[in-house]
Amino acid sequence: MDYEVIVVGGGPVGLMLAAELALAGVKVCVLERLKETMPYSRALNLHPRSLELFDLRGLKTKLVSIGKLLPIGHYAALDTKLDFSLFDSSSNYTLYIPQHDTEKVLEAWAQSLGVEIRRETEAVSVRQDAQGVEVTAVGPKGEAVLTAAYVVGADGAGSLVRKQAGIPFEGTDATLTAMLGDVVLAYPPETKVLTHFNEHGLVMILPLTDRLHRIVMIDPTRMKVPKEEPVTLEELRSGLARILGSDLGISEPYWLSRFGNATRQAKRYREGRIFLAGDAAHIHFPAGGQGLNVGLQEAVNLGWKLAAELKGRAPEWLLDSYHAERFPVNTALLRNTQAQTLLMGLEFSPRMIELRSMLSDLLCIPEANKEVAARIGAFAIRYAPDEEALPHALNGRRFTELKLRLDSGAVLDAYELFHSGCFVLLHLASDDRLNDAVPWEEYGHIRVVRASIAGNAAEWDDVHTALIRPDGYMAWAVPQSEPQPLEAVKRGIARWCESRPM
Ligand SMILES: Cc1cc2nc3c(=O)[nH]c(=O)nc-3n(C[C@H](O)[C@H](O)[C@H](O)COP(=O)(O)OP(=O)(O)OC[C@H]3O[C@@H](n4cnc5c(N)ncnc54)[C@H](O)[C@@H]3O)c2cc1C
Repeated sequence: MDYEVIVVGGGPVGLMLAAELALAGVKVCVLERLKETMPYSRALNLHPRSLELFDLRGLKTKLVSIGKLLPIGHYAALDTKLDFSLFDSSSNYTLYIPQHDTEKVLEAWAQSLGVEIRRETEAVSVRQDAQGVEVTAVGPKGEAVLTAAYVVGADGAGSLVRKQAGIPFEGTDATLTAMLGDVVLAYPPETKVLTHFNEHGLVMILPLTDRLHRIVMIDPTRMKVPKEEPVTLEELRSGLARILGSDLGISEPYWLSRFGNATRQAKRYREGRIFLAGDAAHIHFPAGGQGLNVGLQEAVNLGWKLAAELKGRAPEWLLDSYHAERFPVNTALLRNTQAQTLLMGLEFSPRMIELRSMLSDLLCIPEANKEVAARIGAFAIRYAPDEEALPHALNGRRFTELKLRLDSGAVLDAYELFHSGCFVLLHLASDDRLNDAVPWEEYGHIRVVRASIAGNAAEWDDVHTALIRPDGYMAWAVPQSEPQPLEAVKRGIARWCESRPM
């Protein structure tokens, strides 16, 4: 085989996935048809959970040095913003960072880990059999057939991989389109971020660079125009004049684009040796700025599972858990973006203005704001707890940041333990018998840490030992009350990490 995994598509999701695989020692190649990362950025943000994931891999500092911190997000462009600062996390904000820059960081990271990125190379067919996959690709040196054990389609909304795998893409076509313009404004709005909704339409404006502003507009007189029809500066100018009463001196379009609310999801994220991630698996109206963010979560969910399978240490059920975990999360995502689309583009009437105003008022209630912010910022995600584990409230939940005091006395941010993409076994009960409980030398992919928790973390008070997944979700927490805790730890390791004959 040429590779263990071929990733088709070198957008943010493909690059993240390839890096995750390489981190786990997998031989991986990315096929990307573009010569360079697109200079235009669809996404402009990284949400709190994405930032936590980057923190788990030691990349957050780099991204933060490029972007700008904003404590807020938005739901349906309502006037009251989502307040991420309510979260108990050091990533309790949006990082304002153009997609182009995020991709550059991911590409450099993937390359530093040895990922082979074959640009100007387009996958044109994908076949699989029981032994592996064959991807035919056309690149600068002509056509080549590449082989691997698995292929992942991270090739965006029109995914060739999804089509070749015969996976249905179920959902609805677009019923409206919106316009986007990265432009110069001679008279920019006084507020940094402007959102305006009235009988004439919706407009959002935010600064993009020192020179450019991004305008996003739903103009009821233009929202039936198909997304393939190019946007003109005149369309934006007349829309601004109608909705805001001024065209703000708009000029010098850098990028104009139209996008719609087609909403679809792949029926299966796996077909044999073929997987889908990111926009290849789901599309929706980009409301609330979520698409890239959820795609990154998929990459991190799938990476370690595929690596475990390839290294012979995945239980039978692990690969299928990718679809089982992510499909419901994205079903909820499609619903929330559809609900937001109703609030943003269904009608531009006094009663809609009233409804939006009422919802905006409700978001002033901290509990309501936090609930919606958790959904948009992906803190609300909880995977089904392992049915074979002892019941524990932490199982399936995201591993929140903890400060740990190691046996040596040193204090450490627990997220640092995940930089290498390992499982972490966090032992909090100072039981010396742990050393002999398991032949640790056979479990190089588990990082065993004996520590106590420095500071307050009430939900951890009764934890004896916890096995935490490489993607920062809780696999198997053993409570102090368990009469034979080391036996329970062993069962957890056997269930999640046991090597099996290849
Ligand atoms: C207007 C707009 C605004 C948005 N704003 C946000 C936002 O603020 N926040 C957010 O989180 N999301 C946002 N999104 C969504 C976000 O841009 C996407 O969800 C994200 O780009 C998906 O990443 P991906 O890697 O799955 O796919 P893509 O970014 O589409 O990357 C797929 C890659 O695959 C390559 N490719 C395709 N076919 C082949 C092939 N056959 N062979 C080789 N290469 C191939 C493509 O060239 C491309 O580079 C927005 C989207 C739009 C349209």
